[in-house]
Parts: sequence; C-alpha cells; structure tokens
Amino acid sequence: MSTAWLEKIHSPLLEKAYEVALKAHEGEQRMNGDPYIVHPLAVAEAVHSWGLDENSVAAALLHDVVEDSSITVEDIRKEFGDEIAFLVQGLTKLQNIAIPKNQDAENLRKFIIAFSEDLRVLIIKLADRLHNMRTLQFLPEERQKLFALETAEIYAPLAYRLGMQKLSGELEDLAFPYIHPEEYQWLIHEVKETYEERQEYVRKVLPLIEKALAGHHIKPIAIDARAKRYFSLYKKLLRHNMNLNEIHDLVALRIIVKTVEECYAALGVIHAMWPPMPGRFKDYIARPKPNGYRSLHTTVFCIDNKILEVQIKTKEMHEENELGIAAHWAYEQVKKSSQKLMGWKGVKNKKELMWVQQLQNWQKKFASQEEFLNAVKVDFFKDRIFVFTPHNDVIDLPAGSTPVDFAYRIHSQIGDSCVGARVNGKITPLDYELKSGDVVEIVTQKGKKPTEGWLRFVKTSEARKKVKSAINENERKLIGKAAPKAVEFKVVNADRPGFLKDITEIFANSKINIIYLTSETDHRSTFSNVTIRCPAMSQPKIETLIVKIKRVPGTKEVSYKFLR
Ligand code: MN
Repeated sequence: MSTAWLEKIHSPLLEKAYEVALKAHEGEQRMNGDPYIVHPLAVAEAVHSWGLDENSVAAALLHDVVEDSSITVEDIRKEFGDEIAFLVQGLTKLQNIAIPKNQDAENLRKFIIAFSEDLRVLIIKLADRLHNMRTLQFLPEERQKLFALETAEIYAPLAYRLGMQKLSGELEDLAFPYIHPEEYQWLIHEVKETYEERQEYVRKVLPLIEKALAGHHIKPIAIDARAKRYFSLYKKLLRHNMNLNEIHDLVALRIIVKTVEECYAALGVIHAMWPPMPGRFKDYIARPKPNGYRSLHTTVFCIDNKILEVQIKTKEMHEENELGIAAHWAYEQVKKSSQKLMGWKGVKNKKELMWVQQLQNWQKKFASQEEFLNAVKVDFFKDRIFVFTPHNDVIDLPAGSTPVDFAYRIHSQIGDSCVGARVNGKITPLDYELKSGDVVEIVTQKGKKPTEGWLRFVKTSEARKKVKSAINENERKLIGKAAPKAVEFKVVNADRPGFLKDITEIFANSKINIIYLTSETDHRSTFSNVTIRCPAMSQPKIETLIVKIKRVPGTKEVSYKFLR
C-alpha cells in the first residue's frame, strides 16, 4: 500500500480524509485479503494523477465510507464541507449499478443526474471502477463477467465520451478476457508474433524519421511505437473478417512535437520520404473527433514497401487525448501554480478548432473552478441524452431525439408501426424532444406506416433513412408489386471469430449463390450485422435457411426482405 504520493502533497485536508477513511474501514478486507483502505487509496491516487483538485482526491478517499461504516453524508458535510459531501453522496448513490438489463433504473437515473450535475462524480467513479477491474480476478467467477460487461458497456463508453481515451481503452482491455475468454486467448496467441515483428520494424524506422525531422529543424518531444489495444483490435478485426494483414495501425508510430505548425511540418517531411496511402490521411486537428480527439493520422508505404501508420500531435493534444476532460482541471492547476500557460499558445487558427473553441467558451465563463464546472456540466453533455426502455435498458441518443428516433433504435418494425409514445407514463406526441432520464414506451399499431411528416423532426440519420425507405416501399406497393429480384438477409450476431464462415457455409451447402455480403460492427457495441444478398427464392426456402442460421452460435436475430 503506497501513501508516498499522499505524503508528498502535504495537504492537511487529505491527511484528515485519509485518517477518517482508515478508521471507517478498519478491520475490513478486500476480496484478495488486502486491508480495505488499499482500495480508496488507489482510487484517490488515480484521481490525483489525472490532475483533479484536492476536493476530488478527498472525496475519492472517502467514497466508500458512507456505504461501509456508520458515518453519514451529514457527518462528512460537518467535517469536510458541502462540496466534498456532495461528491461523496453522488458516489454513494452509485453502488451496484448493474448492466442495464438487470438493473434498478432508478439507480442509474440517479447516477446520470449526479454526474451531469458534477462530472467529477463520474471521473472518481471511473477511478473506482478501474481499481476494481484491476482486482477482478479475486471476485467470485459468476460476478466477474457481469462486472466486466458493465465496465465495457457503460463505463468504458462514458470514459470515451469524456475524451479519456487511455482510461476507456484500459477498462475495455481489462474487461475483454472476462467477456470473451476464448476470443481473447485466440487474439493474444494470434497477434503476439505480428506485434513483435511490427514493433521491431517501427524501431528500425525511428532513427530515419528523427534524422529527417532534424534536417527540417524539428526536434520531437517524443517518438515511440504505439501498440493497438487488444479489445479495440478485436473489434476492428471483426470488421475485417479477422484478417490481421488489413490492420495497418497494429503498431503505429507516434510523434509528439511542440506546436501545431510542427505537426503539419512533420507530416510534410514524412510524406516527402514515403508516399502516403490514398484516402488514409486524417486531419483530426482541423476537424477533431466528437469527443475532442486531435491528431494527424497518415498511412505511408514505408521502407521495404511496408505499410506504416503515423500519428502526429502536440504534447497538449496527447495529454488531452489520453486524459480528456480531466486534463482541463490539470491545466487549470498548472496555470494557477506556476503561471506557465500550457493552454493554446502556438495554436494559430484557434477559431477553426472545435475543441479549442469549446474550451475558450468555457474559459471566458470561468473565473473560478466553480464556474468552469458549471460550463462543463452544460456543454459537455448537451449533445447526448440517455433514455430508458420500460425494461430499463439504456438507450443513448443525440440530443433533440424524439420517440420516433427511439423506436427506430429499438427495431425498424417498431419504428415503422409506431403511432404514439408514453414518456414517463404520459401520452406524448411523436415529435416530443426527449430528455435524459425519460422512460419511453412506444405504442404500435399493426400495418401502420411512417409518414412524410416524420422527416421534419427525426434527429438520427438511422431513423431518417428508415422512414424514407418505408415511404418508398409503400409507394412502390401502390404502383403494383413487381416480382422480387433478390432477397436480403440481415443477421445480428455477437461478434465471434469464424461466425461469417459458418454463415456462408450454410448458403454454400444449400447451393445458393451469394450476390453480395457485408459485415459491419458498431465499434461501441459487441454486436455486428451481416448482410447477405441472394437471388430471389421461395418463402419455404427462406424459412429453412433462417432456421439454419438461427442455429449458428452467436446469432441474435435474423430478418430478411425482398428486393424488387
Ligand atoms: Mn469503491
């Protein structure tokens, strides 16, 4: 158990919090036999290392105290003040958030409300989850998988949404072996050699790049080989039919330079050395990813004509990419303590950078930490909402979404046949704008079809597309039924290596030609969609096929439609 970092801070507040936690957890043990205090200490250390303020670190030390001892939130308020009490209370509510299917929705709703009021609640909770995942092997086996699933499905995406890439990736990697043990073993076994080979190769390229950059007076802060994380690699492999040769960023070269100008200059140097692969250059500096990720990515035909992915960014971008929103607290602290501006000096076209712009808006608003927090609360979650099905599944939608978007997210048939909605038990118009925490129930009517008017208010492109195609289909039906030319199957499946092969074998064995086949994985989910188009065939034949497909392990749902 390390308290060295804590002692180094010399904070009477943190020392007091530590003493209270130590006493509250006295005699208590973790599953692995460690004294319980090891856990809050580890959580607090992570929170501290992410650069959060003293109150957050104190709340992290105290986060399990109310749950595990006779100390109440009121006691904490008296001892430590309103802010720490608020954070601890927010964290105390968050016990036992299970995966959406088995959970108490009330709990999750409270969680969302707590962290949308103050993001530090979520960040501390993520630190808590990280330590629990790191010690997951000590939990009883039946709880491991549930816990890991919850981590991959709720916490890792939340960390990603916060821009905390490193944490998000780490949480997924910790969960991976528990969720897909066989696939994990397969992957480790499969990539080990390739990883090493690629790393060797990147090390060979490194000095060449350093020399070329030096020739243009660019001295990088760091150049290293970045290995792709296992879980994200696995999800990418599923999209590429498990073909490792198609993964160009298994090991990427990462160059960290001082300024944005140097990013583009370094890119020029590299493109002058080796030809870039067409269509692979991505300027996430000019157009950051929605979660704020900034970097230049390019893929070149490097020495021996081998493919190499290169990522170029500044130190600030790198830290932000890894730490996300937590980095802003860190910057704020550094600014206060040393007057050294680590912010956005050297960024030339500030106005063009979305993430910077957002930050500037926040900066304008905040004279204090408190004001900054408020800005974050409003701005950061304004673009997504979390709503609930009557079965307490969480559905994540863009802000401004309506019950129709919700219905299509659940299932196209539900979308197509929806006639009304009950939101929190009340009948609501279909163009009602949903809010986080709403419980949404869709009322359907058989044979009902979408109308043109829906296109005025649907928010998601997914719903828009489906409404349009339903309208078109309807029109075609009115014109008269042409004989179908083809039939298209859609198979929703749990991502599993070899799944595609099993499916295509069914078609081959039934002597049915496949005209067209695609497989798509939503990179945020563990499901993938396989689409197979074949020449038109009789209904009984289709039904036989569907029965066979349903027997393939991993199949979740099979649907088909005729193409005319
Ligand atoms: Mn805990």
